[in-house]
Amino acid sequence: MNLFDNVSEMGHEQVLFCHGKDPDIKAIIAIHDTTLGPAMGATRLYPYANEEAALKDALRLSRGMTYKAACANIPAGGGKAVIIANPKHKTDDLLHAYGRFIQRLNGRFITGQDMNLTPEDVRTISKETKYVVGVEEKSGGPAPVTAWGVFLGIKAAIKYQLKTVDLQGIKVAIQGLGNVGKYLCQHLYEHGAKLYVTDVSYEKTQEVKHIFGATVVEPEEIYSQDADIFSPCAIGGILNSQTIPQIRASIIAGAANNQLGQEKLHGRMLSDRNITYCPDYVINAGGLINVYNEMIGYNEEVAFQQVNSIYDTLLEIFTRAEQDSITTNDAAKQIAEDRISKAKNVKNQPKITTAVM
Ligand code: NAD
Repeated sequence: MNLFDNVSEMGHEQVLFCHGKDPDIKAIIAIHDTTLGPAMGATRLYPYANEEAALKDALRLSRGMTYKAACANIPAGGGKAVIIANPKHKTDDLLHAYGRFIQRLNGRFITGQDMNLTPEDVRTISKETKYVVGVEEKSGGPAPVTAWGVFLGIKAAIKYQLKTVDLQGIKVAIQGLGNVGKYLCQHLYEHGAKLYVTDVSYEKTQEVKHIFGATVVEPEEIYSQDADIFSPCAIGGILNSQTIPQIRASIIAGAANNQLGQEKLHGRMLSDRNITYCPDYVINAGGLINVYNEMIGYNEEVAFQQVNSIYDTLLEIFTRAEQDSITTNDAAKQIAEDRISKAKNVKNQPKITTAVM
């Protein structure tokens, strides 16, 4: 693997290899872009098969965070950290050592909890650094804000695809009735949408059936529902070569992360079928916006207001994708890159100074 080629091809500013002997720690912190603000990205602890796999994950995920923050219109950049370790060997000493690496970056990188780290672990890391988020959830959790963003995304998508602003009678098939799915059902129900829902938990489906009059279907039947919108709010990878041909909805708008099995192949399959796909990292950015607001001092009203921009950004994405005959995912990346280069140009402009005689 040619290290610098990889880093420069993906446009990273800095990649740090953190190593210590006592305790034994190997971590990689990838800072992709800080033009818009400090790099934000959660830390993943994972027993990678080799160091190359760990580096690839950090590089790929940190670039994704740059796009996500830029599309969310928050003054933050993209980063990601991976600790190469077996979760069984996770110790407080290791977390303390990791926290010291973060602190040394002095705020250039702000992190939180991802795979194999718990809120308790984040609290341990925070003993060494103030640059962690999610230590105490000041907002009561991100799900309500995320669900509001998804609801606005659905409104943008029906305006673009169905040429209506009215959700009355619009049929929405929702996969997953967890923290986000349930709040989303409530917004849709209050605006007159008809709900078709599924979850692997029988209790959750029954609750939503009773509260919102939803029709419950089996998990494997959710794709082929005669619905206007399919809203994946459960797990990733569910838009793939098996499921896409079954989808009858003309809009896909949901909270789940990494919905496309293979980004290029399945993004293209959706656009060839004239399905308007809301890129997951744009429509579910309410979570990141919420975390960002916790960091700067939480104000619920401000957090919800910032989420409103998801509506306009998605309309911009749909229009660009149509004009340039590209997928919505590619259009979203272009818009993120435009926002970053605009900010770079402003920073590089010569300062006008007034001479006082
Ligand atoms: P959650 O764990 O509370 O809910 C997920 C639900 O999906 C659960 O009820 C689970 O039983 C169900 N489920 C799992 N597999 C299923 C399947 N095969 N078919 C049907 N249902 C299935 O999670 P959440 O917080 O509601 O988040 C939902 C998705 O959105 C996740 O992919 C998450 O990564 C993503 N997301 C969440 C937030 C947030 O603020 N919580 C922010 C951004 C992205």
